[in-house]
Amino acid sequence: MREDYQAFIGLEVHIHLLTATKAFCSCRSAFGDEPNSNVCPVCMGYPGAMPALNAEALRIGAVVARALHCELSAETRFERKQYFYPDMPKNYQISQFASPLGVGGWVDVPAPGASGTPRGAAIRRIRIKECHLEEDAGKMIHSGDVTLVDYNRAGAPLLEIVTEPDFETGAEAEAYLQQLRRTVRYLGACDGNMEEGSMRCDANVSVNRRGAGLGQKVEIKNLNSSRFVRLGLDYEIARQVELVEGGGTVRQETRLWNENRDRTEVMRVKEDSHDYRFFPEPDLPAVGLDAAFLAEVEAALVEPPFDRERRLEADYGLDRERASSICEERAFADYYEAAVAEARRLGVGAGPAAERTAAWMAGDLRRALRAAGLGAAEVGSLGMPAERLAAVVALVDSGRVSATVARKVFDAALGEGVEPEDVVRERGWELVFDPAAIAAAADAALAAEGAALAEAAAALAAGDEGRVRRLSGYLVGKAIAASGGTADPSAVKAAVEARLAAASKAL
Ligand SMILES: [Zn+2]
Repeated sequence: MREDYQAFIGLEVHIHLLTATKAFCSCRSAFGDEPNSNVCPVCMGYPGAMPALNAEALRIGAVVARALHCELSAETRFERKQYFYPDMPKNYQISQFASPLGVGGWVDVPAPGASGTPRGAAIRRIRIKECHLEEDAGKMIHSGDVTLVDYNRAGAPLLEIVTEPDFETGAEAEAYLQQLRRTVRYLGACDGNMEEGSMRCDANVSVNRRGAGLGQKVEIKNLNSSRFVRLGLDYEIARQVELVEGGGTVRQETRLWNENRDRTEVMRVKEDSHDYRFFPEPDLPAVGLDAAFLAEVEAALVEPPFDRERRLEADYGLDRERASSICEERAFADYYEAAVAEARRLGVGAGPAAERTAAWMAGDLRRALRAAGLGAAEVGSLGMPAERLAAVVALVDSGRVSATVARKVFDAALGEGVEPEDVVRERGWELVFDPAAIAAAADAALAAEGAALAEAAAALAAGDEGRVRRLSGYLVGKAIAASGGTADPSAVKAAVEARLAAASKAL
């Protein structure tokens, strides 16, 4: 992006609300059912059919709006947005125009490229213009010369979240989208699955010489992943700047992101909003939001993921990358905080508890999740409760088991569902400091490794320190292995070195 130009990007994100039924009828709202199996006279727009608002859609929509710091309208209404399209049997969409559910919010997102920067740095505040409820259209499936329509999705509840034109780059828009996805998943409002279309993004973008205000805006559709949002917007900004620089003007139009050609292409010249002929939906009354409803909404709010990430950085001393990875899913972050609290209860210091728990979760726990085909959100189904991980952390911290044994304890706790304390006690895995046992382990290893011992003794006599270190490390490893991994490593090292010195003298 050239310094003398400025881009203005606004996003409109549609999220599919996780309700059992559609927005205005009792048809099931689910992805992947047999086509046209979830339809009725209301969502098919039969004459005389009467819609009724799904209270759950209203409640979940309001929770998301509040999580984005919007003010809820005291009384919210619905309008008909008229247009003809084959995937919309009613020829109008029930939406909100004059008094949307929520207005005037904001959300903080990490500024792109801020990874690894000092804590608290580089945050962008994005203004939310409004959140409104509406119904989805059906889905068209193009197959050769034929187009099929599946109306299962027609009438499913959507919340459209509209930002002010506050983004300047594709990367900022991508960061917002990722942030929004985490937020709606934390709230249980939407599964955020962009491949299945449960989260869809349109953008509008204009460019102008810096300081000259908004330019002529172009709408971009089909931005079906956060990556395409970044690529599509950066492409479009470059295209518009080049056009203006060459003496041309930007046309008001709608363009599609073509993911195969990595470019935007004209779809249609844009209709103005009055072309939709909005008018009040006569079959739905205005909805007043009373105190009981508002209290229920406030009670459903949770700490937003980015707030939580920053709290984990500040309170647990984690770097941004690790905090962000832990906060990717709410269940994973809950697991972390529960495990740290338990480790501290077991006597581990605050710093080591935070640090070691995060390291176990990034390493062995992630690996175990992958092996079980589970995501971070499903950590509760892994069979490794947070208390059990905390017990492993405490065992290592107290010096009672070595790092090698700790992994065996972790595997046993996970695979066999046994308590770490019991495993260590019953299998004799506790670190052994007993001099006789250490000596026996060292003697057994050296007896079995006569060649290495002779070579090490010779190297010691010749003053070849590098070789001595390497061979001595090898023999210490053998001795620890001979003890089943339980001999205290520093005691074993001392015993092996004493025997090496003696063997060297005897040469
Ligand atoms: Zn229906």
